[in-house]
Amino acid sequence: MQVLKFGGTSVGSVENMTHVKDIINDGTNKIVVLSAMSGTTNALVQISDTIKLGNKQAAIDLIESLTNKYKLTIRQLLVDEKLALDASVYTNKVFKGLIELIDLPHSEYVYNHIVGQGELLSTYLFSRFLIQEGIKATLLPALDFMRIDQNNDPDSFYIKQNLDRLLNEKEGTYIYITQGFICLDVEGRISNLKRGGSDYTASIIGAAINAEEVQIWTDIDGFHNNDPRFVENTAAISNISFDEAAELAYFGAKILHPQTVMPVRDLNTPVRLKNTMSPDSYGTLITQQVHGEGIKAIAAKDGIYAIKIKSARMLQAHGFLKRVFEVFEKYETPIDMITTSEIAVSLTIDNPLHLEAIVAELEKIASVEVDQDMSIVCLVGNNIIYHRDTPRLFQILQDVSVRMIAYGGSNNNISLLINTNDKKDTLRKLQDYVFKSQSGYAIH
Ligand code: ADP
Ligand code: ASP
Ligand code: MG
Repeated sequence: MQVLKFGGTSVGSVENMTHVKDIINDGTNKIVVLSAMSGTTNALVQISDTIKLGNKQAAIDLIESLTNKYKLTIRQLLVDEKLALDASVYTNKVFKGLIELIDLPHSEYVYNHIVGQGELLSTYLFSRFLIQEGIKATLLPALDFMRIDQNNDPDSFYIKQNLDRLLNEKEGTYIYITQGFICLDVEGRISNLKRGGSDYTASIIGAAINAEEVQIWTDIDGFHNNDPRFVENTAAISNISFDEAAELAYFGAKILHPQTVMPVRDLNTPVRLKNTMSPDSYGTLITQQVHGEGIKAIAAKDGIYAIKIKSARMLQAHGFLKRVFEVFEKYETPIDMITTSEIAVSLTIDNPLHLEAIVAELEKIASVEVDQDMSIVCLVGNNIIYHRDTPRLFQILQDVSVRMIAYGGSNNNISLLINTNDKKDTLRKLQDYVFKSQSGYAIH
């Protein structure tokens, strides 16, 4: 069995839903994971934020505008009157439910409830569409098997047990449709796998059923060697390893949720990235195998805070770094990059939740400076630190101010810390320095 996940654009219009229908209707067994229609989750987040601010009328207006969007979709998607009526009843119930939430005290649970509606809507509409088109498929409610534990990690045992049970109950089906992104929390309330989490849903399911392959169908022809939102002339990479993909996704390559490869890496289940709008393009195949040499791809992650901790006490002393790390440990704040000199250590974090408390504690042992609005640019490839073309990337030092460099932490990654304002320029220049006439590397 395969798991195929279709993202927001892929289910974002009647035309694209028709492409999805054609792709999945090939006679093979599969579980199809759907995201919310593009724009819906953002609209739901906005509705939640507006409710939180107490702007009731503005929230009602936003819900109404989303309702109208869905009315139009139903009209275009479902010509069958009975199915269109079912769909209207379902969507009206969802939107009425949102209106009722406006008067409740806002909480994380209310947020999770609101943002989870997008996937429920898309799967409902798409499954009605399949019925209309005469395609047999079964809806598998994600909330019947997808659950996270107290650490917010997938509860693999529970997921496998429940998924096996549901699949056995519905034997004879060859297309199952389910919701990406949403899950239950440890107390049985609706929760989610964080933004972009439908990719993660697909790989969690892939691991649970020991799938032959997990396919992520999106709006681009695979993993590109740089961020196509900021750089022109990026190219799709045909083969990439789990480790390379995980690193790039963690450092901002939006095409994959950062945790996507985790559940399937040890099982060596291939993950294939494909373009719904161009199904014949090869896309990208992610496996354990490492292909090619030199820098393979560049990604950038925003929202980084750089913290410089300076103390003469560090001079020839030991134990200082331990005390610094203990502060971050205490506030459960992971560190991404780190560089040291004899009297200072600079490091970065991406979660500012406890920043004030962390700085206050560090100031007891050192002077502390914090810079915000920073980005980490990450260059990834097998053994890049030894590759003859890699030094070219340092031409970037002539163009932008680089605050930190991490080189040699692993053989396969080099990270630069820059101001977010310089990100576009940095990515574009690196594209030229690194990929133009690269001698030892071809796109594999
Ligand atoms: P979906 O809704 O299908 O999950 P996403 O918007 O989450 O799609 O991810 C696909 C988008 O990721 C692409 O349209 C592209 O703009 C962006 N992207 C960022 N970095 C990369 C990259 N290295 N390769 C391909 N796409 C990337
Ligand atoms: N709909 C969710 C989001 O927009 C999950 C996803 O698309 O993967 O974040
Ligand atoms: Mg996505």
